[in-house]
Amino acid sequence: MNKIKKIDIMPSGLVFLWEDKSDTFVEFKKLRDICPCAYCAGETDVFGNVYIGDGIKKSKLAYEINKIELVGHYAIQIFWKDNHSSGIYTFKLLKSLN
Ligand SMILES: [Zn+2]
Repeated sequence: MNKIKKIDIMPSGLVFLWEDKSDTFVEFKKLRDICPCAYCAGETDVFGNVYIGDGIKKSKLAYEINKIELVGHYAIQIFWKDNHSSGIYTFKLLKSLN
């Protein structure tokens, strides 16, 4: 699997540098809007109904990053400045944004 070697924080987004030397630029706004956590992405109950969080009122801080942590060898966790940090972005997901 393609792994992230390095993440550069740019003024408007992140650049992921991959093991295969390719890179992916993703704007903060896009990253936050695809947050894969249950709250943002919606949860499916046993009957297949999807519940989507009311949409957090996203302030400007919602699109700024506090820090990024590696999760195992397959994902990163992004800590946004509005204190939202439950989204785990897998490498696979990030790579698919190319
Ligand atoms: Zn989220």
